[in-house]
Amino acid sequence: MLKARHPLGIVFFPAYDWAISPTHPERQERLLYTQDQLREEGVFDIRGITELKPDLATAEDVLRAHFCFPDVASVTTTSHLISAGGAIRAARTVLDKEAKRAFALVRPPGHHAMKVVHGARGFCNINIEAVMIEWLRDRYGPLKVAIVDTDCHHGDGTQDVYWNDPDTLFISLHQDGRTLYPGTGFPLELGGPKALGATVNIPLPPGTSDEGFLFAMREVVMPLIEDFKPDLIINSAGQDNHFSDPITDMAFSAQGYAQLTELLGADIAVLEGGYAIQGALPYVNLGLVLSMAGLDYSHVREPGFDAAAVRQSGQVTGYIEEVCRDILKEVRHPRGPGKGDVVGGWFTRRKTLYYDTDAITEYQTESVRLCDHCRGVVKYETESTRNPLCLGVEAPVGACPTCLEEAYRIYEAGQIKGEYRHLQLIDRVGRNYLTYTG
Ligand SMILES: [Zn+2]
Ligand SMILES: [Zn+2]
Repeated sequence: MLKARHPLGIVFFPAYDWAISPTHPERQERLLYTQDQLREEGVFDIRGITELKPDLATAEDVLRAHFCFPDVASVTTTSHLISAGGAIRAARTVLDKEAKRAFALVRPPGHHAMKVVHGARGFCNINIEAVMIEWLRDRYGPLKVAIVDTDCHHGDGTQDVYWNDPDTLFISLHQDGRTLYPGTGFPLELGGPKALGATVNIPLPPGTSDEGFLFAMREVVMPLIEDFKPDLIINSAGQDNHFSDPITDMAFSAQGYAQLTELLGADIAVLEGGYAIQGALPYVNLGLVLSMAGLDYSHVREPGFDAAAVRQSGQVTGYIEEVCRDILKEVRHPRGPGKGDVVGGWFTRRKTLYYDTDAITEYQTESVRLCDHCRGVVKYETESTRNPLCLGVEAPVGACPTCLEEAYRIYEAGQIKGEYRHLQLIDRVGRNYLTYTG
């Protein structure tokens, strides 16, 4: 009988009753073929591989990671809470040592959901990785976490949630934003003033195949993770880099994904996108599962795979080598905090965001207090085509007494002033999550 070298927990949640629309690529069938494939291959008969039921995330779990306007219930469904709960279940399995590693095969996805949520962007309402990580930090104490996002789309939501957090290294490999949604994720996006270099973006040109992805992993991702020394490595395991994916232009294979997975050695993987639901997902997921469990994946081959036909051009190879060299240089010696202004000891940046899924436009100002003793209280003033002006204030993990006091002062002053419709306070020190409607 086959035995996993790394015991692996798998959480399945295909969300049968949630789809953006019946013909939308983000629909129920996305995981059904994978489920069949894993059963057919006898994955659950392997000793050390166990199937787990997802938890249900609570409103408080969501509020640890997000400001939701007007409230959590208005921007989530039960499926979103189970998807995030599935990620939590996977993480709990690893931290409680029930298994060495875990894979949350869940949907809806989450990596386009930003710190402030007014609705759905890029098929995402809440950031399931962020809800999971902040649940872990709440329960197990401060953890240094590296997130490697291997979805074809830039993980702009995860980047936004962790922009000011020096204890979370976020690395996104994706198809160049000049050629694909959401149009961001360039090498000079390096994080806020207190977390410069903890955000890393590796835009890859259309047509990148196994060779290019594995090169970027070896030359940029792995050395940066080694420097960072995380307690945990998370993989946002999107699978839409596959050569057959209908909404992207990359040339990655199931073997390539499995090799990347082996190289990364993530403790926890969380499914993100991937829309070739029959021809790619079952094989990519099988490769991922075997690779994570430390088993032989060399036989995994998707239908229609022809290595020569999808191999990247010499021009693509040269371009990737150059980009990777430049990125490493920028990350290790950042030249400054990028776009923003310093006003009265606060660093402020303005964002205009479009929620393509729900057709919402948001105007936001994010301000972080430049504190010498902690990463600083963060304030969000935001209005959208769905909500009038709202306020979010966060005293982050490890906030100093002054920043903590400042967070409450801003929150209370905001109520008195009466210019905000909805106000939320996240106090990670006192585990206090307050909401107020004016
Ligand atoms: Zn994607
Ligand atoms: Zn402080």
